[in-house]
Amino acid sequence: MEVNVKTLTPLWTGGVEAGKCDRIHETGILGSLRWWMEVLVRGVGGNACDPTEQKCSRKNGLCDVCKIFGAEGQKRRFRLEIEETQVSNATIKHPIQANRTYTDKQSKQKTPTWYFPKPPNTPKTDTFTLKIQSLNPDFKPEIIGGLIQFIADWSALGARPQMGFGVIEIEERIDIQPLYDWLFSIAGSNIYPDLPSLPNIFLAQIQPKDSNPSFQEEDTFNLKYDLRQLFRTEQNPNKSRDEDGKPRPKKKGDGDKDLRHFIMGTVEGDRIAAKVKISRSYENDKLMRVWGWIPEEADVYKNGWNREKVVDAIYQHLAAKYTLHDWREMNSMRDTKTPNISDAKVFLRSLLKLQEDG
Ligand SMILES: [Zn+2]
Repeated sequence: MEVNVKTLTPLWTGGVEAGKCDRIHETGILGSLRWWMEVLVRGVGGNACDPTEQKCSRKNGLCDVCKIFGAEGQKRRFRLEIEETQVSNATIKHPIQANRTYTDKQSKQKTPTWYFPKPPNTPKTDTFTLKIQSLNPDFKPEIIGGLIQFIADWSALGARPQMGFGVIEIEERIDIQPLYDWLFSIAGSNIYPDLPSLPNIFLAQIQPKDSNPSFQEEDTFNLKYDLRQLFRTEQNPNKSRDEDGKPRPKKKGDGDKDLRHFIMGTVEGDRIAAKVKISRSYENDKLMRVWGWIPEEADVYKNGWNREKVVDAIYQHLAAKYTLHDWREMNSMRDTKTPNISDAKVFLRSLLKLQEDG
C-alpha cells in the first residue's frame, strides 16, 4: 500500500547521526503511529500496555498494539518505507519568540523563546510516499493506512508535535473502515484513567477571529504561552485557605506550577512532555490545530483542579480568542458534532468520518 503525503506544516522525524545523510526517519513516524494506535485501542477498551513500563514480550504475552508494532521477541507486522519524492528543508524562524513578556523570579522582564534544531537537523517539507507492506498474512496494511488518514484529519505525524510540526494531507483519501473493523475486533472493557485514551483526548481546530485574517508564525507560541498561563491562577479560592479558614500563604505568580508543567510540559529538571499540542498554521495560515490528552486521574490535581476544569479552561480560552472550527471530545457537551456521546463506537464512527453529518 502506498500513501502520498503532502506536509501542511514542516515534518520533524528525528536527528541526524554524525556523518549520516539527513532524511525523513521511519522511527519518528512509527512513534506517532504507535501513540495514536494506543489511544484508539484503549478507547475501545482493548489491551494496550504502557510502553514506558515495557511489560510486553513474546514470553510474557503481547498487548494488541505490541502485536502490530512489535516488542521484545516480536517483529513489527508491517514494514514502513519512505520514498522522498520531493522533499526540501523547511524554513522556520529560529529561535522564535512569543509576543509576550513576563517577569522572572529576579524581577527581570523576559520574552518566552523557543529553540529548534539547526541544519542539517532541519524539519522537512513538500511531498513523500509512505510504503506500507504487511509482513504477516493476517495483517492488513490498510489498518495502518486508516491510522495515517486519522492523523491527517486531526493531529500530526512524526516527532515534536508540541513544536507545531507534522500536520499532513493525503493525496487520495484512505478508507478508514479496515481500521474501524480491526479496532472493534479487539474491543474489550479495559479502562485507562491515567494513560492517553480516546475518552480523555480532545481535538480542536481554530481560525483567527474576523478582525485578524491570518495567523503569524509566532501565534503558535503565543497560544502555547497563553494556555500555560491559564494554570497560573488558583482555580478555587476556597481551597487556598487552610483547615481553619485562614488564607494560605501564596507564592507570587507561582500558581499551580506542578499542574502547569504536567499539562504544558517543562524542560526544567525532570523533563515532562506537553500533553497539549498546538500546530503551526496551515491552509494559508487560516487554521491551527490544538489537541491533547488530560487524564482523569493525576496527583497534580489540587486547589479544585480536575480533568473537567483543565479541559474546560482550554476550551473557554480558545472559544473566546478564536473562531472554534471543531472541538471533538467523547462524552462531552463541548463536542461540536456528537455532543454527550459516551458510546465509543458512535463517537469513533463520527471521528473517523465513516458517517457524514446527520
Ligand atoms: Zn504492549
